[in-house]
Amino acid sequence: MTVADANDAASPTIACPHCNEQTSLQLTDCAACGRPLDIVDPQWSAGSAGGATGASKVLMGIGCAVLVVIAAGVASFVACFAAFRGS
Ligand SMILES: [Zn+2]
Repeated sequence: MTVADANDAASPTIACPHCNEQTSLQLTDCAACGRPLDIVDPQWSAGSAGGATGASKVLMGIGCAVLVVIAAGVASFVACFAAFRGS
């Protein structure tokens, strides 16, 4: 009866990859053996922290590319302006 009640609980459960016990997905560590569960579930970990760091890395890359383009444009503009005035 208690097993059926646990299976009918609202919180989903997964089998712990370390001890194979059913534990709640709401927990970050296995309730039976205490080992972390997020390292073995990429989809789950990506939604919490991995996605944010990935997005920030992409934003940093875009920012660096924009800075390089702006610097090159300003440098070429100044060079052309100086050459035009010099001649
Ligand atoms: Zn476990």
